[in-house]
Amino acid sequence: MNASVDPTPSAPSLMDRFSVDNFQRSVLKTPDGSDRLLLHSCCAPCAAEIMDALVASRIKTTIYFYNPNIHPRDEYEIRKQENIRYAEKLGMDFIDADYDAKNWFDRTQGQEWEPERGARCTSCFDMRFERTADHAKEHGFSLISSTLAISRWKNMDQINGCGERAAARYPGMQYWTFNWRKQGGAQRMIEISKREEFYQQEYCGCVYSLRDTNQWREQNGRDRIRRKVKFYGREVLDAESGTGD
Ligand code: SF4
Repeated sequence: MNASVDPTPSAPSLMDRFSVDNFQRSVLKTPDGSDRLLLHSCCAPCAAEIMDALVASRIKTTIYFYNPNIHPRDEYEIRKQENIRYAEKLGMDFIDADYDAKNWFDRTQGQEWEPERGARCTSCFDMRFERTADHAKEHGFSLISSTLAISRWKNMDQINGCGERAAARYPGMQYWTFNWRKQGGAQRMIEISKREEFYQQEYCGCVYSLRDTNQWREQNGRDRIRRKVKFYGREVLDAESGTGD
């Protein structure tokens, strides 16, 4: 269920502080009336606009960074550090969860050749949201959500289904299926990423998405991915320093 959104112009100073220029953000209301949210985050570019909206709406949010799918480890670290940087800027709590990559490979075994948005991605979302729901249960959150569905590369229904399944494991817990792309969210996601000069990843995260994106690029006459060199709003100054492994 999506929460209702009021075009309420209240708390302008807070909104101004966490909004892109000249944008009056709508105030969000949680679907269960809770003023607390445990938000699974995949990366800073996807998370920042959502984090801004939640701060402006006075919903006390804790970021839960659990992404053992991201490969290799240095790619995981750079994505995580960018998210920590923005959480600190907003004064938002940040939980740095496990990088239990072996469990992720075990969970997706046999799905190595699934296409993106296929069965492997369902396993991947399930794993990350189940752990998010576990943490929510342990720490008294009744509401969870994720930043994953703001990306136009993702299947929103697939993500929402995984989120609802994870939350349903605990009575009284709900997964918030808010469409973060709406009302300019997808556009502001890019604007904020440029303003903050976030690291710009070029593949979803796992070793298989890196393989498949490189394969697609080669078939379409494009260069392979060069990791760790692209940042929103910046020129790629040292094109040789990244790796595409
Ligand atoms: S493509 Fe992305 S969502 Fe799918 S399994 Fe890989 S990391 Fe997970």
